[in-house]
Amino acid sequence: MTRIVLLGGGAGGSMVSNQLARQLKPEILHGDVEITVINESDQHVYQPYFLYMAFDQAVPADAHRPERSVLNRQVKLIVGHAERIDRSANKVLMGDGQEVPYDYLVIATGSVPDPDSIPGLSEGGQTFYTEAGALKLRDALRDFQGGRIVVTVGVPHKCPVAPLEFTLMVHDWLKAHDLGDKSEVVYTYPIGRLHSLEPVAEWANQVFPQRGIQSQTFFNVETVDPHQKTLTSLEGETLAYDLLVAIPPHKGQDLIGRSELGDAGNWVPTDRHTLQMQGADNIYVLGDATNLPISKAGSTAHFEADVVAANISNRVHGGNGSLRYDGKVFCFIETGNDQATYIKFDYQHPPQPQAPSELIHLYKLAFNKMYWLSAAGIL
Ligand SMILES: Cc1cc2nc3c(=O)[nH]c(=O)nc-3n(C[C@H](O)[C@H](O)[C@H](O)COP(=O)(O)OP(=O)(O)OC[C@H]3O[C@@H](n4cnc5c(N)ncnc54)[C@H](O)[C@@H]3O)c2cc1C
Repeated sequence: MTRIVLLGGGAGGSMVSNQLARQLKPEILHGDVEITVINESDQHVYQPYFLYMAFDQAVPADAHRPERSVLNRQVKLIVGHAERIDRSANKVLMGDGQEVPYDYLVIATGSVPDPDSIPGLSEGGQTFYTEAGALKLRDALRDFQGGRIVVTVGVPHKCPVAPLEFTLMVHDWLKAHDLGDKSEVVYTYPIGRLHSLEPVAEWANQVFPQRGIQSQTFFNVETVDPHQKTLTSLEGETLAYDLLVAIPPHKGQDLIGRSELGDAGNWVPTDRHTLQMQGADNIYVLGDATNLPISKAGSTAHFEADVVAANISNRVHGGNGSLRYDGKVFCFIETGNDQATYIKFDYQHPPQPQAPSELIHLYKLAFNKMYWLSAAGIL
């Protein structure tokens, strides 16, 4: 019996398990292969909806489905918190004492915002990067009477384009609520341009001034003073705000640190082509959990899932699992409330943002609804 364990049942873990269930169906039915997903919640959460929740354009129910309903019937589901991966024994140790042995392990535990790494940020700032945060921000926007909105970005973080989307959407939102004349939007970014991807930074560099959005680069937030309503950067600048919207720096899951598998940020060292954990033949890593310097996005997890599933099923069939990930990523970018653009790129080809259109915006909304087919491994 070959035991394949997917640690994390979010975007990446669900896609890999569902693809494997189809590719290895005869072996599963014969009892030769077992596929198990471990997820700490019984809910599958589609995080891109958080952006829309902040603007009252989506509700939590849009983003939730029972994890069981997302998984192929042949896939076993364990709902519980994994405490540690014991590599030497090829086991996942669960918080309740259960041990889950594996022959192949896929780490798809995602990433989490770490607002506590910046003093004052949790008290003084809002974020749409968690569901609770998005709902709180929605309420803060409902109460907003005008003033300065600062959108501050820390790195690394998942969905690298979402801060740009929020900035452009909030600009439109202010105008639609007759607050445009009484408000200003300021965007800060930690390096010397507006985005880590150079062509996207150049694009934003044109779009922001056209909309009257101010920006400040080389701004690494060091502290937030929730009483004075100011944020101060490592570089020594201080900005006042009326509403602070933060994209906090992210880290990998603590489980990775406890298992001594990751670097200081709990990112797992991963081969950029095979997606195997470095030095571990039977462990694959995908999605946000990797240390790869590429976009931490659901689409990244999607394209990586094709490679991980194909290689594991090929190896179960006696092959050597030689498919390679080429770094492919595709991201829609909302450029306001009714237009969007998109970027696609890989290790060889940089992104080139397209002219925004309403049609692309409608595609993005349609994709959000079709995500569940993608998680099911069908799309
Ligand atoms: C506001 C926002 C907007 C976004 N917009 C987009 C977008 O438009 N396009 C896009 O491509 N991406 C977008 N993303 C990013 C996308 O959601 C993530 O990159 C994607 O979900 C990563 O998939 P993953 O499988 O690596 O991790 P996740 O989907 O986060 O799944 C990780 C899973 O692991 C589980 N887990 C973690 N630790 C443990 C443990 N110890 N024990 C058991 N289970 C555990 C978690 O509960 C979770 O279910 C957005 C994200 C946010 C926050």
